[in-house]
Amino acid sequence: MAKIKAIRGMNDILPDQTAVWQYVESRVRNVLGQYGYQEIRMPIVEHTELFKRSIGEVTDIVEKEMYTFDDRNGDSLTLRPEGTACCVRAAEEHGLLFNQTRRLWYTGPMFRHERPQKGRYRQFHQVGVECFGMSGPDIDAELLILTARLWKALGLEGHARLEINSIGTSESRRVYREALVVYLEQYRDRLDEDSKRRLSTNPLRILDSKDPETRQVLSDAPVLDDYLDEESRTHFEQLKALLDAAGIDYTINPALVRGLDYYGKTVFEWITDSLGAQGTICAGGRYDGLVEQLGGKPTDAVGFAMGLERLILLLETLELIPADVNNAADVYVTAMGDQAVAPALAIAEKLRAALPKAVVVSHCGGGSFKSQMKKADRSGARYALIVGEQEIADGTVGLKPLRDDEPQQEVGQDELASVLANKL
Ligand code: ATP
Ligand code: MG
Repeated sequence: MAKIKAIRGMNDILPDQTAVWQYVESRVRNVLGQYGYQEIRMPIVEHTELFKRSIGEVTDIVEKEMYTFDDRNGDSLTLRPEGTACCVRAAEEHGLLFNQTRRLWYTGPMFRHERPQKGRYRQFHQVGVECFGMSGPDIDAELLILTARLWKALGLEGHARLEINSIGTSESRRVYREALVVYLEQYRDRLDEDSKRRLSTNPLRILDSKDPETRQVLSDAPVLDDYLDEESRTHFEQLKALLDAAGIDYTINPALVRGLDYYGKTVFEWITDSLGAQGTICAGGRYDGLVEQLGGKPTDAVGFAMGLERLILLLETLELIPADVNNAADVYVTAMGDQAVAPALAIAEKLRAALPKAVVVSHCGGGSFKSQMKKADRSGARYALIVGEQEIADGTVGLKPLRDDEPQQEVGQDELASVLANKL
């Protein structure tokens, strides 16, 4: 029978890789913890309406990337394509936003039906960070300072550059949009198909187009900056001053508008040049209107999402994964003969109690001395413990170094933990 394979663009993360994932996740968790951010966990499936109302009908995600299906009750549900809407929904539903500030984060899989390629998958993982109830540029700056600290914690300092922009209030974008449409209408024939369609639906998204001809037309288009409202301009100036004071380098990219409808004022992306076209590893911005748009009280908000696959790809490309990031054993405990099985399990257990950080793997499944030693070697362990009839009778174990030429020694079972503590 033909074997069933995984769905295209949805990856298994295999044991060798999970060690790397755990390393990255724990660094992320530590840094977020340092800043007092709290983890929130939401379901992976939500009502389709949630994403339509938040992300916007005329976006890549809602138009063509969502995994949407009717459940057995006939309700339209969607595998979450991103976390912000889910986080707002959950926080609002449980009264976390009323009259208070919140700093939240989450991690988990997201789903988008895109063309799979390096750095772009159909199930991928994000770490999302969302802050509520803070209107000033200080919290925008904090998020960027926090990400910079994370890059440092991962050894990525200098490998990602920050681009920022302000896209103003919805009113200033409305005025700009009109000017942009008037300009682009003159060159309608030269625009790509998506952009032609977006002229009447979501013209700002045209700024995002990657089509060379469209980009050519855009080079002389009116710029949003000239239409920015006073409040957004002041906010942006203050943010820049805070970043300067914090020593965070950035460039201003007037074409940075972000794909989702809910952003306003500050938007930003961290980009690396080491991953080709899929170079954005972290992206976000302010979305002061979204909570209200989803039925809550007006609540200022800002956040970002980081793509974990891209981050890990980058760390691997730059060879920045520390060598000791693995699940390898420290000690492999063999059991020579049936009589040795119970004592060997007990010796391993005693070691785990005495050395909680050590990885102690017990040999299971019997076999000859030779085959057990082969497995010990393959486990990556630095030491094999040999537990046989003689050792049991003597109250000792054989301690055999596997990674250097030192001879095997017999160690009393009572001293074993302290002997190993000095060696590991
Ligand atoms: P892109 O322009 O690359 O499609 P996006 O604007 O759609 O990105 P966001 O919605 O801002 O991406 O998601 C935040 C981050 O999540 C991205 O910067 C990227 O690192 C990651 N990401 C987004 N889509 C994918 C995907 N299909 N596969 C892997 N990572 C992704
Ligand atoms: Mg996308």
